[in-house]
Amino acid sequence: MSDFQNPVAGFGVTFKAMFKKRLTEQYPEEKKPTAPRFHGRHQLNRHPDGLEKCVGCELCAWACPADAIYVEGADNTDEERYSPGERYGRVYQINYLRCILCGLCVEACPTRALTMTNEYELADRTRESLIYTKEELLAGLEEGMVDSPHAIFPGMTEKDYYSGLVSEAAPGTERQVAVSKGERPDEERAGTPETPAPTAERPAGTGVEA
Ligand code: SF4
Ligand code: SF4
Repeated sequence: MSDFQNPVAGFGVTFKAMFKKRLTEQYPEEKKPTAPRFHGRHQLNRHPDGLEKCVGCELCAWACPADAIYVEGADNTDEERYSPGERYGRVYQINYLRCILCGLCVEACPTRALTMTNEYELADRTRESLIYTKEELLAGLEEGMVDSPHAIFPGMTEKDYYSGLVSEAAPGTERQVAVSKGERPDEERAGTPETPAPTAERPAGTGVEA
Protein backbone atom coordinates (compact mmCIF):
# COMPACT_ATOMS: atom_id res chain seq x y z
CA MET A 1 0.00 0.00 0.00
CA SER A 2 1.36 3.45 -0.94
CA ASP A 3 1.98 6.33 1.48
CA PHE A 4 -1.16 8.00 0.07
CA GLN A 5 -3.41 4.97 0.57
CA ASN A 6 -2.47 4.37 4.22
CA PRO A 7 -4.39 7.36 5.68
CA VAL A 8 -7.37 6.67 3.43
CA ALA A 9 -7.50 3.09 4.69
CA GLY A 10 -7.36 4.42 8.27
CA PHE A 11 -10.28 6.79 7.65
CA GLY A 12 -12.18 3.90 6.12
CA VAL A 13 -12.45 2.36 9.60
CA THR A 14 -13.79 5.66 10.96
CA PHE A 15 -16.36 6.00 8.17
CA LYS A 16 -17.60 2.45 8.67
CA ALA A 17 -18.08 3.09 12.41
CA MET A 18 -20.08 6.27 11.67
CA PHE A 19 -22.92 4.25 10.15
CA LYS A 20 -23.04 1.53 12.81
CA LYS A 21 -25.73 1.51 15.55
CA ARG A 22 -24.52 3.61 18.52
CA LEU A 23 -23.90 1.72 21.77
CA THR A 24 -23.63 4.76 24.06
CA GLU A 25 -25.87 4.42 27.15
CA GLN A 26 -27.38 7.56 28.67
CA TYR A 27 -26.55 6.53 32.25
CA PRO A 28 -27.59 7.72 34.83
CA GLU A 29 -30.58 9.35 33.11
CA GLU A 30 -31.61 6.01 31.58
CA LYS A 31 -30.90 2.91 33.63
CA LYS A 32 -30.90 -0.35 31.75
CA PRO A 33 -32.15 -3.38 33.69
CA THR A 34 -29.41 -5.86 34.51
CA ALA A 35 -29.39 -9.54 33.65
CA PRO A 36 -31.67 -11.37 36.13
CA ARG A 37 -28.72 -13.12 37.82
CA PHE A 38 -26.47 -10.05 37.96
CA HIS A 39 -24.47 -9.94 41.21
CA GLY A 40 -25.34 -6.69 42.97
CA ARG A 41 -25.73 -5.53 46.56
CA HIS A 42 -26.40 -8.28 49.12
CA GLN A 43 -29.59 -8.82 51.08
CA LEU A 44 -30.19 -10.58 54.40
CA ASN A 45 -33.45 -12.46 54.05
CA ARG A 46 -36.27 -13.13 56.48
CA HIS A 47 -38.61 -16.04 57.12
CA PRO A 48 -42.23 -15.47 56.04
CA ASP A 49 -43.15 -14.34 59.58
CA GLY A 50 -40.38 -11.69 59.69
CA LEU A 51 -37.79 -13.58 61.77
CA GLU A 52 -34.27 -13.48 60.33
CA LYS A 53 -32.72 -16.38 58.44
CA CYS A 54 -29.14 -15.53 59.45
CA VAL A 55 -27.86 -17.71 62.29
CA GLY A 56 -24.56 -15.86 62.75
CA CYS A 57 -22.45 -18.88 61.76
CA GLU A 58 -19.79 -16.77 59.96
CA LEU A 59 -19.45 -19.24 57.07
CA CYS A 60 -19.95 -16.40 54.60
CA ALA A 61 -17.12 -14.44 56.22
CA TRP A 62 -14.78 -17.45 56.03
CA ALA A 63 -15.66 -18.05 52.37
CA CYS A 64 -15.02 -14.45 51.33
CA PRO A 65 -11.73 -14.13 49.41
CA ALA A 66 -11.64 -10.38 49.99
CA ASP A 67 -12.22 -10.48 53.76
CA ALA A 68 -15.15 -8.12 53.22
CA ILE A 69 -17.65 -9.62 55.69
CA TYR A 70 -17.72 -9.20 59.46
CA VAL A 71 -20.20 -11.23 61.55
CA GLU A 72 -20.80 -11.52 65.25
CA GLY A 73 -23.35 -14.09 66.37
CA ALA A 74 -25.32 -14.05 69.62
CA ASP A 75 -27.85 -16.23 71.46
CA ASN A 76 -31.58 -15.69 71.07
CA THR A 77 -33.69 -15.56 74.22
CA ASP A 78 -37.44 -16.01 74.64
CA GLU A 79 -37.66 -12.29 75.47
CA GLU A 80 -35.62 -11.17 72.45
CA ARG A 81 -35.74 -13.56 69.52
CA TYR A 82 -34.39 -12.62 66.06
CA SER A 83 -34.33 -16.06 64.40
CA PRO A 84 -36.16 -19.35 65.05
CA GLY A 85 -33.10 -21.28 66.30
CA GLU A 86 -30.47 -20.85 68.98
CA ARG A 87 -28.27 -18.16 67.38
CA TYR A 88 -28.68 -15.07 65.24
CA GLY A 89 -26.42 -12.54 63.55
CA ARG A 90 -26.08 -9.70 66.06
CA VAL A 91 -23.59 -7.73 63.96
CA TYR A 92 -23.38 -8.11 60.20
CA GLN A 93 -21.34 -5.86 57.93
CA ILE A 94 -20.20 -5.99 54.30
CA ASN A 95 -17.39 -3.70 53.21
CA TYR A 96 -18.13 -2.69 49.62
CA LEU A 97 -14.68 -1.15 49.29
CA ARG A 98 -13.36 -4.71 49.35
CA CYS A 99 -16.21 -6.79 47.92
CA ILE A 100 -15.67 -8.03 44.35
CA LEU A 101 -19.28 -9.28 44.07
CA CYS A 102 -18.12 -12.84 43.36
CA GLY A 103 -21.01 -14.50 45.21
CA LEU A 104 -18.92 -17.07 47.12
CA CYS A 105 -20.50 -15.90 50.39
CA VAL A 106 -23.95 -16.69 48.99
CA GLU A 107 -22.81 -20.19 48.06
CA ALA A 108 -21.44 -20.74 51.58
CA CYS A 109 -24.58 -19.66 53.45
CA PRO A 110 -26.37 -22.77 54.80
CA THR A 111 -29.71 -21.06 55.42
CA ARG A 112 -30.14 -18.94 52.24
CA ALA A 113 -30.06 -15.95 54.55
CA LEU A 114 -27.68 -14.20 52.20
CA THR A 115 -28.52 -13.53 48.57
CA MET A 116 -27.61 -10.82 46.07
CA THR A 117 -29.90 -8.23 44.52
CA ASN A 118 -29.49 -6.53 41.11
CA GLU A 119 -28.64 -3.17 42.72
CA TYR A 120 -25.31 -1.92 41.34
CA GLU A 121 -25.19 1.74 42.38
CA LEU A 122 -22.72 1.33 45.24
CA ALA A 123 -20.58 4.45 44.88
CA ASP A 124 -20.35 6.95 47.73
CA ARG A 125 -18.05 9.60 49.16
CA THR A 126 -16.92 8.17 52.50
CA ARG A 127 -15.39 4.92 53.62
CA GLU A 128 -17.94 4.52 56.42
CA SER A 129 -20.93 4.79 54.09
CA LEU A 130 -19.64 1.88 52.01
CA ILE A 131 -19.56 -0.46 54.99
CA TYR A 132 -23.16 -1.64 54.98
CA THR A 133 -24.59 -2.64 58.34
CA LYS A 134 -27.12 -5.35 59.15
CA GLU A 135 -29.89 -2.74 59.29
CA GLU A 136 -29.05 -1.63 55.73
CA LEU A 137 -28.78 -5.18 54.39
CA LEU A 138 -31.86 -6.68 56.07
CA ALA A 139 -34.80 -7.27 53.70
CA GLY A 140 -37.87 -5.10 54.15
CA LEU A 141 -41.10 -6.36 55.67
CA GLU A 142 -43.61 -8.00 53.37
CA GLU A 143 -47.27 -8.76 53.97
CA GLY A 144 -47.76 -11.16 56.91
CA MET A 145 -44.40 -10.30 58.51
CA VAL A 146 -43.71 -8.70 61.90
CA ASP A 147 -40.33 -7.05 62.43
CA SER A 148 -37.81 -8.98 64.57
CA PRO A 149 -37.37 -9.57 67.46
CA HIS A 150 -40.54 -11.53 68.10
CA ALA A 151 -41.62 -14.94 69.40
CA ILE A 152 -41.35 -18.10 67.28
CA PHE A 153 -44.60 -19.31 65.66
CA PRO A 154 -46.38 -21.32 68.42
CA GLY A 155 -45.89 -25.08 68.07
CA MET A 156 -43.25 -24.70 65.34
CA THR A 157 -39.58 -25.62 65.50
CA GLU A 158 -36.60 -24.21 63.61
CA LYS A 159 -36.80 -27.24 61.28
CA ASP A 160 -40.45 -26.45 60.52
CA TYR A 161 -39.41 -22.99 59.33
CA TYR A 162 -36.96 -24.51 56.84
CA SER A 163 -39.58 -27.07 55.77
CA GLY A 164 -41.80 -24.19 54.71
CA LEU A 165 -44.49 -24.83 57.33
CA VAL A 166 -44.57 -21.19 58.47
CA SER A 167 -46.14 -18.90 55.89
CA GLU A 168 -46.85 -15.78 57.96
CA ALA A 169 -46.65 -14.41 61.51
CA ALA A 170 -48.99 -16.02 64.02
CA PRO A 171 -52.09 -13.92 64.82
CA GLY A 172 -51.32 -11.48 67.64
CA THR A 173 -47.54 -11.59 67.15
CA GLU A 174 -45.96 -8.42 68.50
CA ARG A 175 -42.45 -7.06 68.10
CA GLN A 176 -40.41 -7.57 71.30
CA VAL A 177 -38.28 -4.90 72.93
CA ALA A 178 -34.72 -5.03 71.54
CA VAL A 179 -33.00 -4.58 74.91
CA SER A 180 -29.61 -5.56 73.44
CA LYS A 181 -29.90 -2.56 71.08
CA GLY A 182 -30.59 -0.16 73.92
CA GLU A 183 -34.40 -0.14 73.62
CA ARG A 184 -36.41 0.00 76.83
CA PRO A 185 -39.94 -1.20 77.61
CA ASP A 186 -42.54 1.62 77.44
CA GLU A 187 -43.35 1.40 81.17
CA GLU A 188 -39.68 2.02 82.04
CA ARG A 189 -39.40 4.88 79.58
CA ALA A 190 -42.39 6.65 81.15
CA GLY A 191 -41.29 8.93 83.99
CA THR A 192 -37.60 8.96 83.07
CA PRO A 193 -36.04 12.19 81.84
CA GLU A 194 -36.09 12.54 78.08
CA THR A 195 -32.92 11.31 76.43
CA PRO A 196 -31.45 13.43 73.64
CA ALA A 197 -32.56 12.39 70.14
CA PRO A 198 -29.90 10.50 68.18
CA THR A 199 -28.12 12.58 65.57
CA ALA A 200 -28.84 11.74 61.94
CA GLU A 201 -25.15 11.49 61.11
CA ARG A 202 -23.33 8.18 61.69
CA PRO A 203 -20.59 8.68 64.28
CA ALA A 204 -17.09 8.46 62.93
CA GLY A 205 -15.71 4.95 63.21
CA THR A 206 -19.09 3.20 63.26
CA GLY A 207 -18.98 -0.12 61.50
CA VAL A 208 -15.32 -0.20 60.56
CA GLU A 209 -14.47 -3.56 62.09
CA ALA A 210 -14.59 -5.27 58.68
S1 SF4 B 1 -19.47 -11.31 46.98
FE1 SF4 B 1 -17.40 -12.24 47.14
S2 SF4 B 1 -16.08 -10.56 47.77
FE2 SF4 B 1 -18.18 -9.87 48.09
S3 SF4 B 1 -18.60 -10.33 50.25
FE3 SF4 B 1 -19.29 -12.10 49.05
S4 SF4 B 1 -17.54 -13.52 49.00
FE4 SF4 B 1 -16.76 -11.52 49.65
S1 SF4 C 1 -25.43 -14.95 56.21
FE1 SF4 C 1 -25.51 -17.18 56.17
S2 SF4 C 1 -23.37 -17.87 56.25
FE2 SF4 C 1 -23.40 -15.70 56.86
S3 SF4 C 1 -23.50 -15.75 59.11
FE3 SF4 C 1 -25.61 -15.62 58.33
S4 SF4 C 1 -26.32 -17.75 58.20
FE4 SF4 C 1 -24.08 -17.82 58.36
